[in-house]
Amino acid sequence: MDKLLWKRKSVWEKGDEYRKKAFSVAEEYKKFMDSCKTEREVVEWIKREIERIGFLKDGSEKFYIVNREKCIAVVKLGEGEGMKLIAAHIDSPRIDLKQRPLYEDKDTQLVLLHTHYYGGVKKYQWMNIPLAIHGKVVKKNGEILNINIGEDDDDPLFVIPDLLPHLARKEQYEKKVDEAFSAEKLNPIVGSMPDLSEKEEKVKASVLHLLYEKYGISEEDLASAELELVPAWKSRDTGIDRSFIAAYGQDDRICAFTAFKAFMESNNKKTCMVLLVDKEEIGSDGATGMKSHFFLRPVIEILKRKGEKADMDNIIQFLEKSECLSADVNGAVNPLYKDVHEMDNASYINRGVVLTKYTGHKGKYEASDASAEFLGKLRSIFDQNDVLWQIGELGKVDEGGGGTIAKYIAQWNVEVVDCGPAILSMHSPYEISSKGDLYETFKAYKAFFESE
Ligand code: MN
Ligand code: MN
Repeated sequence: MDKLLWKRKSVWEKGDEYRKKAFSVAEEYKKFMDSCKTEREVVEWIKREIERIGFLKDGSEKFYIVNREKCIAVVKLGEGEGMKLIAAHIDSPRIDLKQRPLYEDKDTQLVLLHTHYYGGVKKYQWMNIPLAIHGKVVKKNGEILNINIGEDDDDPLFVIPDLLPHLARKEQYEKKVDEAFSAEKLNPIVGSMPDLSEKEEKVKASVLHLLYEKYGISEEDLASAELELVPAWKSRDTGIDRSFIAAYGQDDRICAFTAFKAFMESNNKKTCMVLLVDKEEIGSDGATGMKSHFFLRPVIEILKRKGEKADMDNIIQFLEKSECLSADVNGAVNPLYKDVHEMDNASYINRGVVLTKYTGHKGKYEASDASAEFLGKLRSIFDQNDVLWQIGELGKVDEGGGGTIAKYIAQWNVEVVDCGPAILSMHSPYEISSKGDLYETFKAYKAFFESE
């Protein structure tokens, strides 16, 4: 009977040596997370690492291609047909500034910023927490300014002011959560000191003067800007045993980090690619999302470097012989909210990397349902490499649902399945992962890159 039953194990059963290794990867990971809070910052970091490691030193077998600073493909050529692809997304839910963000509230004489949230957020989680502004302003003369305010201890922060509990009864408590927190109220305060030389909107005038003095920008320059409010806190060890990491943006930068690390450290036989894309959190649309034809660029480059003709016939054949892990997180069972899961098929923290056969909603609608053959192959690769893995379905049937980039990769007739760690508090400003799952995910990705 014991041999027939499929029992769940914890990563931490692997012993002390294992714990040391997992904890040491976690240190690298936290540094990455603290310097990468936006898609542009991840692409910059990857480029710097490629330089630092000297990845391109030995010639034409290796290359990378960047798409509009928000998307990157890194490739190592190998033998045989097709490639081993690991694709993750590097955008995370956040609060974006509108293109005309600054306004002064007449009654309070406070200046605030209009915002539009990005991706699936529970709005109340973003109020009264320290926020930093990251991003880019393109001035009229073409000059480009990189903005990062709120990360240094000396920097000022931004806070979206919530309502005090004393006065929240009608406005919030008696409403449904979705109605109690309005998107048009996710506005942080930016200033309150008036410019005494002005007649009206004195505070807005003083904020504008300050922006001009510090950055040389006018209100109109903000129209051609991408400014994003992200949590200003750093990643931290969590729990008295330090087995967890709390950090912003682990969906999906935990997969981006482990995929890139596995790629760099793998001894591959076949052609391997790490693809990091933007816009997953808002449906993968746009030139830098997974639906973009940019995906073909590195594929064409691979064919050319292999001395093959990059015509449609070869591209299609190359892709149909390729295999992909759509590297993304799953929602781990939260001990406080177990009701949303069907516990036999849910994914758990500390139980290794998750193979999510399908996502979608209401009868697998809009899911890329991976094949039994591909799952069978991956199972055996993981087992041969001592990778602890589990299966995972996102919540009870009809409870909700979600999607990943898997289906957009599947459109190219690539064999693909979702594969990544299960995390707690997904899409919150402070998501929680296990150091053991982080390490197992890295091991799974490395084994995949090294497989036949
Ligand atoms: Mn994701
Ligand atoms: Mn997500």
